[in-house]
Amino acid sequence: MSHCPFCKKKIAMSKAFCSRNCKENYFQLIAIQVPKPFLKRIYVFCNPEQREEEIENFANRHGWRIDLLKNKIDELAAESGFSEDKNNN
Ligand SMILES: [Zn+2]
Repeated sequence: MSHCPFCKKKIAMSKAFCSRNCKENYFQLIAIQVPKPFLKRIYVFCNPEQREEEIENFANRHGWRIDLLKNKIDELAAESGFSEDKNNN
């Protein structure tokens, strides 16, 4: 047994992904690049509403799915320690 690299579901060894959807999401997620200065700006200088707006614009500008971009940003923010700020507001 092997695992789908996107949703972690168990799949047959002969398959790389459980579905075409997962394959597309996986490669789109890899393609998403979030520059550090952007991440810093939206967490340090924006309130939650402005942050949402910035993320939406960023996704539209690059043609990325907003939910995938948000996942990526949450992940990076946690890694960089930015998401802790949420508790201080
Ligand atoms: Zn999957």
